[in-house]
Amino acid sequence: MLTNPAAPSTVRPRRVVTDRRGGRSRPPYDSFNLGEHVGDDPADVAANRDRVARELSVPRDRLVWMSQVHGTGVAVVDRPQEGPVAGTDALVSATPGLVLCVLVADCVPVLLADPEAGVVAAVHAGREGVRTGVLPAALSAMASLGARARHVSALLGPAVCGACYEVPAAMQADVARVAPSSAVRTRAGTAGLDLRAGVEEILRRAGIPEVVQDPRCTVEDPQLFSHRRDGVTGRQAGLVWLG
Ligand SMILES: [Zn+2]
Repeated sequence: MLTNPAAPSTVRPRRVVTDRRGGRSRPPYDSFNLGEHVGDDPADVAANRDRVARELSVPRDRLVWMSQVHGTGVAVVDRPQEGPVAGTDALVSATPGLVLCVLVADCVPVLLADPEAGVVAAVHAGREGVRTGVLPAALSAMASLGARARHVSALLGPAVCGACYEVPAAMQADVARVAPSSAVRTRAGTAGLDLRAGVEEILRRAGIPEVVQDPRCTVEDPQLFSHRRDGVTGRQAGLVWLG
C-alpha cells in the first residue's frame, strides 16, 4: 500500500512512502519489496516497481533508483536513467515527473522539496550518512538548482526509533558530534540513536522551517520492512517528485 502522510493536496511536490503490503514478493520479502539488491526474485521486484509506477500514473522509466552505499554522494538527475544511479545516497532534481526513490529498511528516508524553486530530493539517511554529511551535501545540490532553505519542507519517513536502536556508546558519540539530539536511551536503558531527531536537528540548523516526522518505527511495525528486526528482508521506498 502507498500512503502519503504529510503533503497538503495543493502543493506541486508529491511525497509517498510505501510499506510491505500489496506486492508480489514471497517471504522473507513479502510482499511489496522494492529493493533489487536483497536476494528477492527480480521478476517479483519488477512487478512491484511496475505497480508503483501504475499507482503514481507515471511511465516506469520515470522512477529513478540509487545503488546506495551509506556515503555522501549526490546525483542531480534530469532524465530517466538506464539503471540505478551508482554509488549515491541522494537524488536531486528539478525535472517534473521524475520520481526520486530511496530504499530503506530502518534508515531514514528524507524527502525534501522546495515548491517555489521546483526542486526535490530523496536522501538515504542512515547512521553513517548522517555522521558523514549526506544531508548538507543534498541541500547544497538543491541550492545549486535554485532552492532556498526557507522554502524547503521535509518529510522523514518510517525508521528505527531511538528506543529500539541500540548502539555502542562510542558510535552514539560519533553521531552526536554532528547531531546531539540523536543521542538517546533505548528502552533497555542503553546507548541509543534517534536518527530522525538527528536528521531534524541538522535540517533545522540549515534553516529548513518545516520538518514532519512519520512516527512509525520499522522495528515495531510489522507492516514495515526492518533489517534490524528480520535480517534478510525487503525494502520499502520513499518517493518524491514534482507532479
Ligand atoms: Zn522502535
